[in-house]
Amino acid sequence: MEEYFHSVVLDKDRCNGCTNCMRRCPTEAIRVRDKKAIIIKERCIDCGECIRVCPYHAQQTQLDTLDKLKKYKYKIAISPMTMYGQFNLDKDMNKVFKGIKMLGFDEVFDEGYAADIITLIIRENLKNNQQPKPLISSLCPAVLRLIQIRFPSLIDNIIRIESPMELAARLARKNAMERYGLKSDEIGIFYITQCPAKVTSIKNPIGIKNSHVDGAISIKQIYGDIVKNSNTVEKIEAFRTASTYGIDWARAGGQSKSIGVDNYIAVDGIDNVIKVLEEIELGKLNNIEYFEGLACVGGCVGGPLCVENPFIAKSRIRRLAEKRNDEIKVSREYAIELYDSGFACWTEKIQSKGAMKLDENIVEAIKKIEEIKKLTSLLPGLDCGSCGAPSCRALAEDIVRGYSKIEDCIFKD
Ligand code: SF4
Ligand code: SF4
Repeated sequence: MEEYFHSVVLDKDRCNGCTNCMRRCPTEAIRVRDKKAIIIKERCIDCGECIRVCPYHAQQTQLDTLDKLKKYKYKIAISPMTMYGQFNLDKDMNKVFKGIKMLGFDEVFDEGYAADIITLIIRENLKNNQQPKPLISSLCPAVLRLIQIRFPSLIDNIIRIESPMELAARLARKNAMERYGLKSDEIGIFYITQCPAKVTSIKNPIGIKNSHVDGAISIKQIYGDIVKNSNTVEKIEAFRTASTYGIDWARAGGQSKSIGVDNYIAVDGIDNVIKVLEEIELGKLNNIEYFEGLACVGGCVGGPLCVENPFIAKSRIRRLAEKRNDEIKVSREYAIELYDSGFACWTEKIQSKGAMKLDENIVEAIKKIEEIKKLTSLLPGLDCGSCGAPSCRALAEDIVRGYSKIEDCIFKD
């Protein structure tokens, strides 16, 4: 099977085999063997749930450090929409952006500006939608990967438009090249991330060949320095370019509201997303126009690499967005041009990953399903996790796949 890059990694020395992560993993991608967690790479969607629940901080995200900036002549930071939720509303965000710039960047690009553009593009798309309904948002890479491995029949529903992160990076690079005559490889673009899924999507992009982003640094890594720097700012530069429509993408339901679609479902929390995707797969929600599925509770404000409490951050974004005291500054014509020229679109086919498949051969797969059913009926049904699998059914599947044996169940000897 193809090897993916995963941003979520396990520090074995810290792991004590408590099984918390195994029990919470939404794709049953974790097993515990010899008192250590093991991540089944093909199943992992980098949603970061294990990072959230590990009491020993053994599950971590592979990130870059500010040292990597030295490789580039011109450095650009992409500040995510979630940044708006990390500070009190009375904090001038231009000071925050200046604080980011002071970390060694030549420029700070507001991701929300790209979300503004995508808002306009999706509004147009919904008017002439040729794809199966509901259209599925392309914002959350953890949900996209989940669809690839568990709901491949829904791949055609995914809207084929760049994420705000990728569009922001592409625009920032183009602007810097035109303005300063720089070559592409002289420019380093760093995303300030709220989640490991974005880091994975930089290394393994979905819908495009190569990411436009060169590295990722988490909000947590630099938050303290941003606060320190922003408190020293005297002369304010105007960095903020996003409207409240773009900023609203940071919370669950915000993008649907900005797009202005009435007939939408916005779901946050990966378990809830799975339940609704199951309904969509069964064809029960074909009357819905737009599905916004976000792996984190509250939306991106709930990303595991954010600093602020997700509920407080979500409330701040809501209060900002509900003012709706501004308009998107980008023209509809410009947004359509970016779409029509392919600048804001996906170019690559999205592949099904089929990690949940039991066998390539359908007859063999059916046989294995029967074997799993039989084995599950022989197990006690306690889902106690003592065998190192998250449920009795998962142990039965591991046995059929050849990874475990029935004696691993502590009730069988
Ligand atoms: S949550 Fe997972 S990684 Fe963390 S200590 Fe428990 S078993 Fe190990
Ligand atoms: S909801 Fe947002 S923060 Fe959470 S995994 Fe998806 S993109 Fe990342």
